[in-house]
Amino acid sequence: MIIIKTPEEIEKMRIANQVVVKALLKLKEMVKPGITTAELDIVAEESIRGAGARPSFKGYRGFPASLCASINEVVVHGIPGKRKLQEGDIIGLDLGAEYEGYYGDAAITLPVGKITPEAERLLRVTREALYKGIERMKEGNRLSDISHAVQVHAEAAGFSVVTDFVGHGIGTAPHEDPQVPNYGPAGQGPILKRGMVLAIEPMINAGGHPVQVLEDEWTVVTRDRKLSAHFEHSIAITETGPDILSEFAWS
Ligand code: MG
Repeated sequence: MIIIKTPEEIEKMRIANQVVVKALLKLKEMVKPGITTAELDIVAEESIRGAGARPSFKGYRGFPASLCASINEVVVHGIPGKRKLQEGDIIGLDLGAEYEGYYGDAAITLPVGKITPEAERLLRVTREALYKGIERMKEGNRLSDISHAVQVHAEAAGFSVVTDFVGHGIGTAPHEDPQVPNYGPAGQGPILKRGMVLAIEPMINAGGHPVQVLEDEWTVVTRDRKLSAHFEHSIAITETGPDILSEFAWS
């Protein structure tokens, strides 16, 4: 069942999402060669707690950290640790917060120093695909219109869409109905209505779409070990169109 949120609830969710965004912007300034993902995780947690919120990934199904830090071939759910970022890496930062019972969730993928033109293109196209999906979040459209728009944009660039993990509803739980795949034909699924809040999160691979989970039971990598990128926003559907609760100035 898709839970409809009141305007008041959406404002609480905007606060939760802006707590996430504030932390992500701090991390963005720190992402440089030599820093460890554990150091990023500490700052993420301090930033969220300092804003009166709770890092919602920490302890979720046993996840050991506040931040998911996913380097290069890691698609999502990378566990922060002692690994140092290196020039030319890309790093996905996925972060969630709970504020007064409402959840926020957003992700960005950043370059570490100078990256290859192909890696730059992957980041750009993945972010664009997210916005192509968001553009479809209008009352009266169907859920899979979002999915289809993401897939078309990613595949037109020669990249492939991860199918094993999907976006989701969000609200008083970090994951609510519906699931939001990043692929599929348009015109299917529930009709979009105002008050729905969805986390749209394309995971796009430079090579093939297959992924695998490593022995830590969290880290998801591309099977061909080629690069993967991930961008995510939490977005409310309003009478005037999509309202990106986690929006911020990217650069
Ligand atoms: Mg999410």
